[in-house]
Amino acid sequence: MTETEATPFPAERYSDEYWMRQAIEEAKKAEAIGEVPIGAVIVKNNEIIGRGYNLRETTHDSTAHAEMIAIRQASEHLDAWRLLDCRLYVTLEPCPMCAGAIVQSRLPAVIYGTTDPKAGCAGTLMNLLQEPRFNHRTEVVANVLQEECSSLLSDFFRRLRRK
Ligand SMILES: [Zn+2]
Repeated sequence: MTETEATPFPAERYSDEYWMRQAIEEAKKAEAIGEVPIGAVIVKNNEIIGRGYNLRETTHDSTAHAEMIAIRQASEHLDAWRLLDCRLYVTLEPCPMCAGAIVQSRLPAVIYGTTDPKAGCAGTLMNLLQEPRFNHRTEVVANVLQEECSSLLSDFFRRLRRK
């Protein structure tokens, strides 16, 4: 057996792009039920321990953002509010509420797809994830699969306007 064959997973499985594709799959679940397509996954040790997609309309809950749902699920999975050694992948830059929850849950890393010029608090309008006065700061990686994440949203709103 060659060394390549012995590798249990292709290297791509572990890339930021791989996990962002999983977040995009979550976003598509939102789109399928008429919600704004935003999705998130939380990864620990190369395993998804939390998933979420936007459910604001369905649940009539302004806090039902993809990240909030994924954070709750990951905390349940870990039996802990601290999401140590976890990475959150989300298709859209986090809003102030989600950035706050990310800081509260001590997430070490956030990887997002496309910037949000209207609510982005991971560097666009402000940077709550790397605020030196807070007791926790998060590593931020921006623009992973940016075009895919961005067109998911622009296509959705274009179809909405046509209706
Ligand atoms: Zn949010």
